[in-house]
Order: sequence, then structure tokens, then C-alpha cells
Amino acid sequence: MIWPQVGYGFVAAFIVLVVGDFASTFFYHVPQHLWFTLHLRTHHDRRRSYWDHAVLSKDPSVLLDGLLGALPYIIIAISLFPLSVGGALIGLALGQIHVWWRHTTELGWKTPRWFVTLSRQFSLVLPEDHDGHHRNPDIEFGDIFRFYDAPARALIAKLEPTSRRSRNAAVRRLRRLKRQPART
Ligand SMILES: [Zn+2]
Ligand SMILES: [Zn+2]
Repeated sequence: MIWPQVGYGFVAAFIVLVVGDFASTFFYHVPQHLWFTLHLRTHHDRRRSYWDHAVLSKDPSVLLDGLLGALPYIIIAISLFPLSVGGALIGLALGQIHVWWRHTTELGWKTPRWFVTLSRQFSLVLPEDHDGHHRNPDIEFGDIFRFYDAPARALIAKLEPTSRRSRNAAVRRLRRLKRQPART
């Protein structure tokens, strides 16, 4: 019987995409936005083409950002090998295809109206949504699914006082205070 295998494959691919996106969003993407600079320097550098950084670039820091973002998907896929090697690999392949597709806005691609309506039913991140994240790094989290956006933003808001941005602002305030002449 081949059908149980197909079923396991489908489940494995589904888990790679849904749980992989969860892990990548909350264990890599959100921490990068809060406390680090690698992802902001590479993925949110407005001086370079987004198509280039996501698909063509061989710049080591761009590749490292891509690899670290993909790592949670890869770990989950490997852990699903006992269930279905083929399904886990198909999940990874679909995730990679989505990376390329979600960066096509810059090529002038526009998602057809009917597909926008359809994909909203299962919260798929469209290239237009992801382009919103490039333009405004505070919105549109979730690589593949938009249902991770609201919890990601809520977590960032909660942890904002600990962020690099807050720390830098506090340092700037302190420096300004020090520059002011002491009152007599
Ligand atoms: Zn991107
Ligand atoms: Zn980002």
C-alpha cells in the first residue's frame, strides 16, 4: 500500500513548513530584530536589491543570514526523517521555492487577484506582504505564514526595553546629558 506513505509524506512536509516557520520566526528572526545586527544589515539594507540579497548574492554575511534562518527548518526536517524522508525534503524544497517567490516583487511580479483571495484563507505570506517587511522592519513577520505576525510583534513589543534599539537610545540620552553644562 502506497497511501499511508503518501499520508506520512504530506504530514512531514506540512510540519517542516508550519513548525519550521514558527521556530525560524521566534528563535531567529525576532531575536535578530531585537538584539543583533546581521539580519538587519543584510535583509533590511535598503541600498541593495532584495532579489539580489535573497536569491543571487554570494556575500558571506548574506549567505550566513540565509543559512541561520533556514537552520530551524533543516533541523525539523532531519528530525522527521523517521516519518518520511521524501516528505521532509519536499517540505524543505517548498520552503526554498517560497523564499525565491516572496522576493519577486522587485522583478515586477504581481500576485493575481484570485490567488490573493485564495491564499488569504490559509494565511500564506505573499511577495507583496514580504515586501512590506523589507520596507518596514516592524511589520509582516512570519516567512511563510502570516499567523505568526501578530504574536511576533507582541513578543517584540514586550521585549523592546531589552532591545539593542532601546539600549542605543539610552546611551545617546546619557551622552547628551553629559554634554550639557552643569548648572550652578
Ligand atoms: Zn526578504
Ligand atoms: Zn526581518
